[in-house]
Amino acid sequence: MNRPDSALTCAPAAAGPMLRHRTRQVVVRWGERVVRVGGNAPVMVQSMTNTDTADAIATAIQVKELAQSGSEVVRITVNSPEAAAEVEAIRNQLDRMGIDVPLVGDFHYNGHKLLADFPGCAHSLSAYRINPGNVGRGAKRDDNFARMIEIACRLAKPVRIGVNWGSLDQELLARMMDENARRPQPWDAAAVLREALVRSAIESAQRAEALGLPGDAIVLSAKVSGVQDLIAVYRELARRCDYPLHLGLTEAGMGSKGIVASTAALAVLLQEGIGDTIRVSLTPAPGEPRTKEVQVAQEILQALGLRAFAPQVIACPGCGRTTSTFFQELAQRIQTYLREQMPVWRTQYPGVESMHVAVMGCVVNGPGESKHAHIGISLPGSGEEPVAPVFVDGQRTVTLKGGRIAEEFQAIVEDYVRRRYGRQHA
Ligand code: SF4
Repeated sequence: MNRPDSALTCAPAAAGPMLRHRTRQVVVRWGERVVRVGGNAPVMVQSMTNTDTADAIATAIQVKELAQSGSEVVRITVNSPEAAAEVEAIRNQLDRMGIDVPLVGDFHYNGHKLLADFPGCAHSLSAYRINPGNVGRGAKRDDNFARMIEIACRLAKPVRIGVNWGSLDQELLARMMDENARRPQPWDAAAVLREALVRSAIESAQRAEALGLPGDAIVLSAKVSGVQDLIAVYRELARRCDYPLHLGLTEAGMGSKGIVASTAALAVLLQEGIGDTIRVSLTPAPGEPRTKEVQVAQEILQALGLRAFAPQVIACPGCGRTTSTFFQELAQRIQTYLREQMPVWRTQYPGVESMHVAVMGCVVNGPGESKHAHIGISLPGSGEEPVAPVFVDGQRTVTLKGGRIAEEFQAIVEDYVRRRYGRQHA
């Protein structure tokens, strides 16, 4: 049977994300610190505290932890006069600790009052998040929105117009449902809801521009909790505007469910070049650090090849050819070690965040995978000679054996990092 040539050949496939959706660039500042969102800037990672903002010390400590784990902007809720009164103290405390991460204030219902009544809060925040569904009803809605935008203009603060389907502008939705009912072929309710989210975000941004806020001081988000809905909404936003887009699956949930759902949604959009800043909204398990959401966001971007934050450990899953957990423990140990070194390595060894380290369980894929990594070790599987060859830059080097394989391999990794990424050898 004859087949077209294309069916017989295996043309090299293009790897990597599609071209980025073209957007304006928004600059978020605090002091000397400048964070760019959109345009050609790398996709930015942000997070949000879950402390009571009125507790300035607890909030400053959590902001510090989030910033040190890699959050480039941190959002805090500003929901009451007590919270607004503490924002300046939080900012001052962070400055004293040398943490210059920009703070974004999250406002609902009373933001117009809080920003006006607490000038220290308005000044100390680097940007405001305004939810157009939660600024009031009827004429008050427009007035309240205008008052917040007027303060943002006067203080030169960027604004995120953050729509959420849990708090969508009900008047707009009702109007659109009526319009839809008059269509010859009405859309289904979910499609009307998605369109309402998109329209609420874009029309609010246009209103902000009409009130004097520059177009390059506006970021948009339209969050939902369903993966397919989120993808559909952001594709539409990207098609219809050039504001930078903040991506996030709202109320993603706990544990692996939250991580998988966020990753599934964000990966599709980022791969299509949509999204300029991301947040992973995980519900932490009791006792789990808030910084987990930053780690997951970084890992999504790194897995897609969009940014590099920390060296990656490539470990096989193990199988019946491994009779001990030794290689799992070694993989865990190396992963933890690499992550713990990063605060220092980031400045001392530029480029180390792109390093790959392989920890493999047996001879089947061990040597091959180790050769592809910068540095790798192939541990002995069951029935193999109890030796572990180490590969550096694709070449087999030493063979480790005995009870100190873990320590010796870690020392080899450390030496490699110093030699390859140390400034004096650059
Ligand atoms: S590398 Fe070896 S131990 Fe690891 S999964 Fe493959 S066959 Fe199993």
